[in-house]
Amino acid sequence: MLPDQLSSALAELDAQGLRRRRSVLDSPQGARVSLDGREFLSFSSNDYLGLASHPAIAAAARGAIDAAGVGAGAAHLLTGHHRLHHDLERQLAGFVGLPAALLFSTGYMANLGVITALVDRHGEVFEDRLNHASLVDAAVLSRARLTRYPHRDLVWLDRKLAESRAPVKLIATDTVFSMDGDLAPVSELLELAGRHGAWLYLDDAHGFGVLGEEGRGVLSTLPLAPCPLNLIYLATLGKAAGVAGAYVAGSEYLVEWLVNRARTYIYTTAQPPLLAAAVAASLRLIAGEPWRRERLAALIDRLRAGVVGLPWQLMSSDTPIQPLLVGGNVEALRLAEGLKRRGILIPAIRPPTVPAGTARLRISLSAAHTEDDVDALLAALRELAHD
Ligand code: PMP
Repeated sequence: MLPDQLSSALAELDAQGLRRRRSVLDSPQGARVSLDGREFLSFSSNDYLGLASHPAIAAAARGAIDAAGVGAGAAHLLTGHHRLHHDLERQLAGFVGLPAALLFSTGYMANLGVITALVDRHGEVFEDRLNHASLVDAAVLSRARLTRYPHRDLVWLDRKLAESRAPVKLIATDTVFSMDGDLAPVSELLELAGRHGAWLYLDDAHGFGVLGEEGRGVLSTLPLAPCPLNLIYLATLGKAAGVAGAYVAGSEYLVEWLVNRARTYIYTTAQPPLLAAAVAASLRLIAGEPWRRERLAALIDRLRAGVVGLPWQLMSSDTPIQPLLVGGNVEALRLAEGLKRRGILIPAIRPPTVPAGTARLRISLSAAHTEDDVDALLAALRELAHD
């Protein structure tokens, strides 16, 4: 792209209906938001437990500012690694039952850093076709061979792993697929990875805080003692945890290697320590307030029962991500617009984010929603079905 081509390229995006524009949020994140000057009932955040603006988490962040200031001021390997980061890493590892953990500034950076630290151009990375973009970008950046397998197709994956001559193999998968809400076959993948001598990288961005006992994420749904040496666990902290950042957990050796080799860990300023204090407060709420997951489960059931009889169907999902399959791009946009006119915010997800012909509304439920909120959404959908 040359400088004088930008304006016509943007005009082209406009012409194809693909130009993205940002809306401005004037309120905290939550079930009710003020966006571009209007009030909405929102089903469009990843704040699954309703913690993004929780007063106890905000108070922990404020307290940490007094004790530790605002900026970390340096990278972790220089003087930016604060006691608050250090203690949180131990808590986060323990929370998911793994020996060690390492904080990253974002999930995107964690995925780039981990995969490029473990696999080089001689290796092969196997990824579910519906994986998040950051996992795909990580494999591309590693220069390894990238083999994308059909969604959840273990037979196909098994065959490709057997054919591979790469000295280092790594399987990477979302645990909860971000645009579909369904789950990866994690225990089967663990068996497959073990059999083929491959790493298994689990991106639990949408499972942490939501899945398993006390919200301990996808690993708590597996019989895992001791931790297999080939397992790498990632959780992001800006979704259910309501804060920001991410962490990777696994063996002590893995974490030591990442400290030494993960470029997105080494060559960046540490996150403000106040965020570590906020995550520690969030962990207490995640584990200590099971009602948030119970409410989510009840809202999921209510929504799924309520859409029966509508012209659109929910995709198969037990998680807070409940995509309403519409099909055509224009129809999905029209439905999202109709909801917006009625004060309800849900993003229309279109290709290339999802396959052609599967445009959908990505409904995200949160423990901050009430039964009345779900009923309001269902009533609006019923009205639009008759339009
Ligand atoms: N992995 C998955 C599956 C995600 O959905 C996301 C965020 N949408 C990320 C990684 C990136 O995490 P972060 O937002 O912390 O960069």
